[in-house]
Amino acid sequence: MIAAKNILITTCCFIMFAARCYCLEFEYHSNEELEQVLRNFSTQTDDAGAVKTELYSIGKTYKGTELWVFELTATDDETLGIPNVKLVGNMHGNEPVGREILLHLIEYLLDNYNKNETITWLLNNTRLHILPSLNPDGFAEATEGLCRGNNGRFVRVDPESAIPEDLIDLNRNFPDPFYHSNLTFDITESTCLMKWMENKTFSLSAALHGGELVANYPYDSSTHAADGLPSRTPDDDVFQYLAKIYASNHPNMKGCSNLTNFTDGITNGAEWYSFERGMGDYNYAYHGCMELTFEISCCKYPKAKELPRYWNENLKPLLLFIMQSNTGVTGQIYDYLSNKPIAKARVMVAQRNVTFWSSWNGEYWRILLPGEYTLKVEADGYHSSTKHFTVSEQKGPYPSLTILDVPMYNSTVFTTTSTSPSPTATSPRWTVAATFSGYQINAQNPPVHKSLPGVHSHYSSSSISYKIYVHFYTVLYFLLVLHCVI
Ligand SMILES: [Zn+2]
Repeated sequence: MIAAKNILITTCCFIMFAARCYCLEFEYHSNEELEQVLRNFSTQTDDAGAVKTELYSIGKTYKGTELWVFELTATDDETLGIPNVKLVGNMHGNEPVGREILLHLIEYLLDNYNKNETITWLLNNTRLHILPSLNPDGFAEATEGLCRGNNGRFVRVDPESAIPEDLIDLNRNFPDPFYHSNLTFDITESTCLMKWMENKTFSLSAALHGGELVANYPYDSSTHAADGLPSRTPDDDVFQYLAKIYASNHPNMKGCSNLTNFTDGITNGAEWYSFERGMGDYNYAYHGCMELTFEISCCKYPKAKELPRYWNENLKPLLLFIMQSNTGVTGQIYDYLSNKPIAKARVMVAQRNVTFWSSWNGEYWRILLPGEYTLKVEADGYHSSTKHFTVSEQKGPYPSLTILDVPMYNSTVFTTTSTSPSPTATSPRWTVAATFSGYQINAQNPPVHKSLPGVHSHYSSSSISYKIYVHFYTVLYFLLVLHCVI
């Protein structure tokens, strides 16, 4: 039966390759079928060949099932400032609606690039990483039509291990920003996801669940550990905005009963019910990735015939949500002298007590609403840097990121700073406070020549400050001339 379906899928997609038919059925795909569908997608290209796709695995489950990720973008690897966005489905094995929606989303994106303006913009401005199933082993044991219960919810583990079978909830198995007790289990799926996030910097993420209809945003955990009380992040305004983008564009996101009558279809996690070690809190607190949990079906595992409705309800919210990755600020943090990018620099926005980090190539992203902000960047071995910037109101149908690159000045090279009096071409006199590896020098009218080898200078037109950065090997020369003047 499975083989026959695979042949059908393969044949259909072969036809699609030539004729672009819409062929993915609205049905639940087994783990084997899911892999085949993704492999077929990876061989499919858009008409212009501009969409790049990659099918990669972030690891295997205990039962050996690959955790497949499908990446797609129309940008090239060299372009900076393109945000990585991830979408994760089927974390709970018995909540597979998101799993199927994500498959359809891949097909839709591939099929509409260069045809639909929004899709074209989206793939031109994001790198999407779609993980349809984080818990394929649990899914294999779940039962279609079961709306409640935990059959298939948990990950499967070695029965011989000390880990309690049937008790491992992936969404309770990540490091927690409030409770640092070592209560997480060494579960493959959790480990794979954490390594994935260590290797790639995501700025925005969604986890698709079932059993409710609400857009849930961090924190789920809290210091009070009481349901009904919110636990707010320093970016609460952004999280609420992101949640509303999804819920307000979903035709039915109003909760599933009178008991869960969510205002605007959104909720703070802890305000709904508080729990520890969730994946959303981990994304935000440990990786600076803004992850929301979208509960998209009242029935956890509805019959497949209902999938078209769920697809229609969630397509627009998903597209608009992904689009928000281009809201806020981005840039590259680099060494001023060598131009080399600085990884793991600490990126902070004033009045928001949370630290994000730059990527392996010095890139950073902060999703922010329109307004005036101050960015502070710190990196080991460098002077900290502070910059003011503006996130403008969106003009037109698509958001755009504010670009703010941050040069960093090595704290082990000779640096001088002057503000009084302002240097001019005719009167290059100013007071210098100089440091070199902690050694303080004060002098006036230093005879610095602009052509001094290794010296790089720049003026800030707004602050009339003048900074000189000198390579280590020029320091002796400078001191010698200084000594002669004194
Ligand atoms: Zn769930």
